Amino acid sequence: MDHGQTAATQGSRIDAYVDRYAARATGMVASEIRALFAVASRPEVVSLAGGMPYVTALPLDVVGELVADLVARRGPVALQYGSGQGDPHLREQICEVMRLEGIDAGSDDVVVTVGSQQALDLITRIFIDPGDVVLAEGPSYVGALGTFAAYQASVVHIAMDDQGLVPADLAETIARLERAGRRLKFLYTIPSFQNPAGVTLNLARRREVLEICQRAGLLVVEDNPYGLLGFDGEPMRALRADDPEGVVYLGSFSKTLAPGFRVGWALAPHAVRDKLVLAMESAVLSHSSFSQLAVGQYLATQPWREQIKTFRELYRERRDAMLTSLEALMPPGCTWTRPAGGFFVWMTLPEGLDSKAILPRAVAERVAFVPGTGFYADAQGAGNMRLSYCYPQPDRIREGVRRLSGVIEQEIRLRDTFGTGSAPDHIGVDTPGPDLA
Ligand code: PMP
Repeated sequence: MDHGQTAATQGSRIDAYVDRYAARATGMVASEIRALFAVASRPEVVSLAGGMPYVTALPLDVVGELVADLVARRGPVALQYGSGQGDPHLREQICEVMRLEGIDAGSDDVVVTVGSQQALDLITRIFIDPGDVVLAEGPSYVGALGTFAAYQASVVHIAMDDQGLVPADLAETIARLERAGRRLKFLYTIPSFQNPAGVTLNLARRREVLEICQRAGLLVVEDNPYGLLGFDGEPMRALRADDPEGVVYLGSFSKTLAPGFRVGWALAPHAVRDKLVLAMESAVLSHSSFSQLAVGQYLATQPWREQIKTFRELYRERRDAMLTSLEALMPPGCTWTRPAGGFFVWMTLPEGLDSKAILPRAVAERVAFVPGTGFYADAQGAGNMRLSYCYPQPDRIREGVRRLSGVIEQEIRLRDTFGTGSAPDHIGVDTPGPDLA
């Protein structure tokens, strides 16, 4: 080998390898918005962009003791490989958590995953060939859209209103795609406190959606990380509670405990469960025993239902701070959803305003949000933005909304002076960074 070869020569070798990426890698695109979020994460910027749970509300000292105790007492198990399906005791505990949403399931049908994000990845991996159709609410969770793109699925959106996805549109879309000979694989839905829209599928529609999917022989993937974070009354009945054979349910401890443990799960009919375990083993051999046992220990020894109540009250106060200040400050023509739980408000801007174009100006005014286009697979959403209230304190939320309303007022003045559609600054959201979760 000629050691005189330059870096440039080596660079061209890399180019050749890069040319050989699998076709699916083209679906994995970095978010142009990340650079901006580096700025947005400065302390002077109020971020209404991130979906980060407020883990500071946890009894961190207790969690710390619990983890230390776990290593001291059960180190040889906690620090060892585990089973591909997940710790049997934790799977029992997960069934107890799911009972709060009317689900009656055996721990044998649960697969523990690295957050529900990995469950999404595994489900997509075992069902999707390039070009297969996934139906998903429009808008939908950016991390799911990224996964579907990575497996070259074709995402077709189903309309939503303030009661969740519209069953008539679901039925029509299925019929239209079947007539066109498309291969439909599953409906991906976030029925409760949807990310990003903040809306919840009402009970009557839950039945309708299940009936439509049963008639069409279409599997439902129910993604439910926020289900226990409702602000009024009891948790909604999960879709899975009424159709154990037709629904794969995805759950997570990210929002009810902490995302740092990375513990989520899939509850699936036997045959699907078997494939999921195989896919899990091929992906990571087994989930972290340490994380699983820590979560199991937390559930066994701590008042976790009370902790969820603490989270609910904290997020309710923040939701109220956001809704009240939107009401007081946003200029006419802006509309938004009123979430009954979860983390997000979805805002619709006045005609002719583009949220991507507004973002850099908003960051200059020290407030950040996520533009709506990232939540669609088909470039809709320019007139929308996602505002999250989960992380900032209520007075910061009020200040953030005040800054944002000033920016939007200014945009409206520009629109009225120069006509509609100031050129967007080429910002797209394609894959989720932690900020976009
Ligand atoms: N699904 C939805 C709807 C989400 O909002 C998120 C994270 N914000 C996830 C799945 C993934 O969460 P995790 O992997 O932390 O369980």
